Amino acid sequence: MVDLVGQYEKIKPSVDEAIMGVMGSAAFIKGPEVKSFQEELQAYLRVKHVIPCANGTDALQIALMALGLEPGDEVITSNFTFAATVEVIGLLRLTPVLIDVERDTFNMDVEALKKAITPNTKAIIPVHIFGQCSNMEAIMQIAKENNIAVIEDTAQSIGSKYTFADGTVKSAGCIGDIGTTSFFPSKNLGCFGDGGALFTNDSELAARLEAIVNHGMKARYYHDEIGVNSRLDSIQAAVLRIKLRHLDSYVAARQAAAKYYTDAFADVDGLETPLISEKSTHVFHQYTLKTKGVDRNALQTFLSEKKIPAMVYYPVALHNQKAYKRDGVIDADFPVTMDLCDCVISLPMHTELDNEQLEYITNSVKEFFNK
Ligand SMILES: *Cc1c(COP(=O)(O)O)cnc(C)c1O
Repeated sequence: MVDLVGQYEKIKPSVDEAIMGVMGSAAFIKGPEVKSFQEELQAYLRVKHVIPCANGTDALQIALMALGLEPGDEVITSNFTFAATVEVIGLLRLTPVLIDVERDTFNMDVEALKKAITPNTKAIIPVHIFGQCSNMEAIMQIAKENNIAVIEDTAQSIGSKYTFADGTVKSAGCIGDIGTTSFFPSKNLGCFGDGGALFTNDSELAARLEAIVNHGMKARYYHDEIGVNSRLDSIQAAVLRIKLRHLDSYVAARQAAAKYYTDAFADVDGLETPLISEKSTHVFHQYTLKTKGVDRNALQTFLSEKKIPAMVYYPVALHNQKAYKRDGVIDADFPVTMDLCDCVISLPMHTELDNEQLEYITNSVKEFFNK
């Protein structure tokens, strides 16, 4: 699905030098690389504060902690996402409220959001899934009217840009109260281990986040609240600084591969290619097709026999996961999610796909449909 070795080979001298630099300085934790990365990412995203942390799941948890929610408060998120988003809600003894998604973008459905709001709703977590922003104009409007906080899960969409009706353009994760991301190796901006970050334009929230990631400490050894220990280490920051310089070209490579796929599948009846919304750029963390009238699993097996990895993100809706089942929450509440779980399939998507590989993959997919 990804070619991280191929990507590394191209930037090897600078990455190796940066890692050696950290080893020579022994500033493994809270070193200058972390500070520089923080500042460079702030500039890239045009956001006031970036708070690095240990991974994308921690980032979500820390964001929820900073909002000071009480057990039982409801947090609305998408039913069609990686489990981390809903996991942290449950971990903090908050109540996850899952909602259906839009068929075209796979993102949170705004009508479903409106219906899900109750007096207990304290936060909304739109997940910008597969590389494209949720309908943030509408979500921010609803949040404002109801005085609800917004945490954007940007683990799959760093670098995506959203355009508001008045022409304002903002980066994914920098629109709501807090944005979170992951630097897991296969993410669009990935490090060589685990990493994550929080974004905010609110200086008070930033101070709270800074404290929570560091044991709830504002002044050294004075703990104002219960926090966690969640750090991005200097070696990861050094790698990320270099990869950040390439992020725009990485995105362009993903978009070019996506265009190749979409052009190639234009006349395949059994496939629906991903929509690129008018309001958001698509950074193609995943290239996700919807199959129509064919056995999706047979297609996956056929490709696998041809040594083409194709993955199903996500095969089971969260409300049907053992850990997240709740009484009274049923399949009929999520018609789109249920359908997507049966028909989606994602093709290899990364920065190193060349035309030969793309041709082989697209020809193989077409061969399945011409059988
Ligand atoms: C990857 C991912 C996360 C979690 O990130 P980690 O760094 O693996 O903890 C959270 N949300 C979404 C949507 C993700 O894709």
